[in-house]
Amino acid sequence: MFDYLIVGAGFAGSVMAERLAVDAGRKVLLIDKRAHIGGNAYDHYDDAGVLVHRYGPHIFHTNSKDVFDYLSRFTEWRPYQHRVRAWVDGQLVPIPINLDTVNALYGLKLTSFELVRFFESVAEPRAEIRTSEDVIVSKVGRELYEKFFRSYTRKQWDCDPAELDASVTARVPVRTNRDDRYFTDMYQAMPRHGMTRMFERMLAHPNIKILLNADYREIRSAIPHREVIFTGPIDEFFDYRFGKLPYRSLHFQFETLNVAQAQPVAVVNYPNENPYTRVTEFKHLTGQEHPKTTLVYEYPRAVGDPYYPVQRPENAELYRNYQALAARTPGVHFVGRLATYRYYNMDQVTAQALTLYAKLVGISRREALASPA
Ligand SMILES: Cc1cc2nc3c(=O)[nH]c(=O)nc-3n(C[C@H](O)[C@H](O)[C@H](O)COP(=O)(O)OP(=O)(O)OC[C@H]3O[C@@H](n4cnc5c(N)ncnc54)[C@H](O)[C@@H]3O)c2cc1C
Repeated sequence: MFDYLIVGAGFAGSVMAERLAVDAGRKVLLIDKRAHIGGNAYDHYDDAGVLVHRYGPHIFHTNSKDVFDYLSRFTEWRPYQHRVRAWVDGQLVPIPINLDTVNALYGLKLTSFELVRFFESVAEPRAEIRTSEDVIVSKVGRELYEKFFRSYTRKQWDCDPAELDASVTARVPVRTNRDDRYFTDMYQAMPRHGMTRMFERMLAHPNIKILLNADYREIRSAIPHREVIFTGPIDEFFDYRFGKLPYRSLHFQFETLNVAQAQPVAVVNYPNENPYTRVTEFKHLTGQEHPKTTLVYEYPRAVGDPYYPVQRPENAELYRNYQALAARTPGVHFVGRLATYRYYNMDQVTAQALTLYAKLVGISRREALASPA
């Protein structure tokens, strides 16, 4: 009999499995319907021998020392600061928009002080910030909004930013200095030997058994277990009783080129009429040296694997119905991105899992991290 049947071998399920097995001595079975561990963070070597992320680029960044220290038990790190360029008006310019972006686009030589005044002169004041369009035009004006945000958002979400909640773009920074880092978190690094290797080390314990290619719905009655930790879609768990929670999906198109490097930074955004939103060259992230290089093109889709929860009030309401049902379902604990219908980064999911673990065994978050792996 397993103490826990854990559904989903991504960050949420793997952190739960590791802590329950190593710290609390519980016997766990970790299952995933996919053929691999790691969830959406899974990486592998493609046919050309280039290390790629199967579900799009996953860049680790966090301000949580606890999360960084915890994951450091399973990997060494390669320092990596993420940089992104946008292809606008025939040139590659920094995104988030900064001093160099504006100077390059308009052929200007503004200083930071002058850029503040430039933004003030083009910004359209809004009495109330309700939509994603309001967020952007009230900061940088309509022209930069059109160039950088409008079609990107339309491609990504299949609707106009004017119809999207402000929270979708509320965190997009605009800088008046020359800082071109995409993230400003305290800890920014990539697992030195890749994400999957980190998961392998996390899960290498005799109390953890792993079953892949196994859907929970197929095997739940065949496996004796006391409790369930579910990290899949919460609406699926309840057989879509209240209806389906809407997601946006992506199609990933990989391409290997016979050159060592194809673009100057890891990610180039295409906020224009191209059908893809961005192109990632993995070697920038992984630091791998190889005579060839592999890129991935991302094409937003309405159907496919669930990636981005669609943030609308009616969907939040729908989720609350499932959440209430989950609270009334004994012996099942919901954790992770799909089970809580929130777009969380990897560090946030790790923190969420550590918090659930502490609650399950009745200890504090600090105690949950105390025992070394
Ligand atoms: C395109 C994209 C890019 C991203 N980039 C970043 C980034 O740069 N940095 C960052 O921090 N975060 C990024 N994220 C977010 C990151 O992917 C998540 O934070 C992380 O994967 C969440 O882990 P999880 O365990 O909650 O979910 P997942 O990784 O999705 O794992 C859930 C697992 O459950 C399995 N499962 C579901 N249902 C069942 C079932 N019925 N039976 C068995 N198994 C099941 C699934 O197969 C899956 O493997 C990105 C996400 C996307 C979509």
